[in-house]
Amino acid sequence: MRRPLIAGNWKMHGSRDSIGILLGGLLAQKLPESVDVAVCPVYVHLDQVVAACSDSDLRVGAQDCSHVDQGAYTGDVAASMLRELGCHWVILGHSERRSYHAESDALIAAKLAAALAAGLAPIVCVGETREQREAGEAEAVVARQLRGSLEGASSAAGLVIAYEPVWAIGTGLTATPEQAQQMHAFIREQMTGLGANADETRILYGGSVKPDNAGELFAQADIDGALVGGAALKAEDFSAIIAAA
Ligand code: 13P
Repeated sequence: MRRPLIAGNWKMHGSRDSIGILLGGLLAQKLPESVDVAVCPVYVHLDQVVAACSDSDLRVGAQDCSHVDQGAYTGDVAASMLRELGCHWVILGHSERRSYHAESDALIAAKLAAALAAGLAPIVCVGETREQREAGEAEAVVARQLRGSLEGASSAAGLVIAYEPVWAIGTGLTATPEQAQQMHAFIREQMTGLGANADETRILYGGSVKPDNAGELFAQADIDGALVGGAALKAEDFSAIIAAA
């Protein structure tokens, strides 16, 4: 039985004041014991969030990490530094990094190796664009991203995959539960082919997850939780999504 994971990706949002209020709202409620919950703020808010969550089961993640452990890489942050700061998770290969920072599968694979070496638990994102889906290439794209981004690490213990169709991110267009389930089952099959213990691999769905669609997504056999963007910025909405898991 896979334990659900609900992770909030706060992206580049918030101030120390506003995330203080958001955390206050989240921490005021008891988290269900059967669900893993994480929040992923920007680097410069990590210390505040780690400190605020220290007495709770809410775990903290970063939104990216460097592919190397240290050196002349201006602007980058190493996985070991994030671990030292108290991060548990790290999101890798988000479509916004793939598109705005031209991250390749090979770079993501190097980041994945660095994250694992530092003891961070990675959430690796994959997903097709609208054009790719309309051209009937969604599965081929996701298979290629999995193969390339997980190179050498597909059987790592605790590895989490997030399926985030690019066309569903921040658009209000959610994949239907059937569309998402179909791709999740495909990803699980691919993971078996890549040598992972796929029955134990958690596969999250991401893309306009809201309180009113979370339940039917989580009811699908191969959807093990969510990577939540916009709705994770409101304590009430994020709590409702956690409760649906
Ligand atoms: P939204 O939930 O805002 O669509 O964002 C999804 C996402 O990109 C999470 O990583």
